[in-house]
Amino acid sequence: MAKIAIIGAGISGLAAGQILGKKHQVEIFDKASKPGGLVKCDRINDNLFHKVGGHVFNSRNQAVLDWFWNFFDRDKEFIKAKRNARILLNGKVIGYPLENFLHQLDKGLVSKILDDFLSNDYQPKDPFSYSNFAEFLKSNFGSTLYELYFKPYNEKIWNTDLTNIPLHWLEGKLPMPNLKEMLLSNIVLQEETEMVHSTFYYAKENGSQFIANRLAEGLKIHYNAEISHIQKREGKFWLSGSGPFDTLIYTGDIRKIGAILSETGVGENLPKSLKNLPSNGTSNIFCETDPGDISWLYLPDPDVKAHRIIYTGNFAETNSRGSNRQTCVVEFSGNYSFEFMSDQIKKLPGNLTPLGFNHEPNSYILHSSGSKELINESREILKKEQIFLLGRFAEWEYYNMDKAIEAAMLLEREIS
Ligand SMILES: Cc1cc2nc3c(=O)[nH]c(=O)nc-3n(C[C@H](O)[C@H](O)[C@H](O)COP(=O)(O)OP(=O)(O)OC[C@H]3O[C@@H](n4cnc5c(N)ncnc54)[C@H](O)[C@@H]3O)c2cc1C
Repeated sequence: MAKIAIIGAGISGLAAGQILGKKHQVEIFDKASKPGGLVKCDRINDNLFHKVGGHVFNSRNQAVLDWFWNFFDRDKEFIKAKRNARILLNGKVIGYPLENFLHQLDKGLVSKILDDFLSNDYQPKDPFSYSNFAEFLKSNFGSTLYELYFKPYNEKIWNTDLTNIPLHWLEGKLPMPNLKEMLLSNIVLQEETEMVHSTFYYAKENGSQFIANRLAEGLKIHYNAEISHIQKREGKFWLSGSGPFDTLIYTGDIRKIGAILSETGVGENLPKSLKNLPSNGTSNIFCETDPGDISWLYLPDPDVKAHRIIYTGNFAETNSRGSNRQTCVVEFSGNYSFEFMSDQIKKLPGNLTPLGFNHEPNSYILHSSGSKELINESREILKKEQIFLLGRFAEWEYYNMDKAIEAAMLLEREIS
């Protein structure tokens, strides 16, 4: 039995704690006062505010699903819902994904899109043969759809020029329809079925906070315990006076690990450029809205800084318990003030009334060329010292909750 310290009580740290706690003695440290990390929710006037995104759960991995449902009574505690996403394009609400709903666009626009598809230049290649995300999108969807939707929407969400984004982060994450599939969807009016969240599970009470709270049960977690320095004595780790630990699992921000390990002599071996990896924060404004049946509304319009509205009030009846309308979260990529966001939402549908807001400094990791190699090199250096990286910001991976759980399952094999 090893003594293991985990930094972070987000989904990654909680999953690792539950998995490794079966064989080892595990303690978790989190700077926050409750579990959940990015999936944390608060109640405002008894309405549920997802402080980041609008976390819903599903997975294509049966082992992850089996593991997850061991902790919950799926039928009693969760709702299974169908994703009902839409795009607000030039003032008109269109189906999602756009390429399956071209028949809802104006005739002139559809004609231009078809010209792109029928041109001799339209020859999509293997996605990973493109040098960047912009080239990939343009080549797969044609320049009309690219300029109309893919470019403005993705530039807002990633807050960067799309030519800066390499392709490898897409691996296994986005469906990549070919032309036949796109045309077929428009002719037989096929809906979105292939995406991991086309149907999803959602807790009846307290959303993703319910998930985090349940996964935290039975674990030894130190809250309000930010780990800024770790000591190493006689080969063992000490954290904030707790220890000795044989093994360390880090689920925090990889850019900070060098400083955290500076007193152990390990930090100086890590690549210096690690701390320059780019990321985006998000600002969320929580609102009351007129009722509707949409779950996500994507906002490509460059005149509005927000990139989507998540109608979290539609996910569970209890989410809008304190309102006689409905509730939703409007998400912005970047750091915006409450005043700015309150002004911006006047341009959006639903007569939005602000109830609260949150800024999360790190939500979306950004890959740049060489970032994968940088993480792999660091991972190997740390592994030799019995320090393991796990989770969205430590592994610098665009993980959803299920992928974070899967990563914790894989880590178990490395440790035991
Ligand atoms: C906008 C948005 C929407 C999303 N929507 C979905 C969705 O619908 N479904 C889905 O499955 N996934 C979704 N995700 C992804 C999901 O949030 C992540 O996969 C998951 O939360 C990652 O968990 P984590 O534990 O790796 O990281 P985190 O949640 O960031 O947890 C890390 C924890 O470590 C703590 N910590 C960090 N440094 C220290 C330190 N030095 N000392 C002490 N504690 C520390 C933090 O306080 C935090 O609690 C979304 C993500 C975003 C950004």
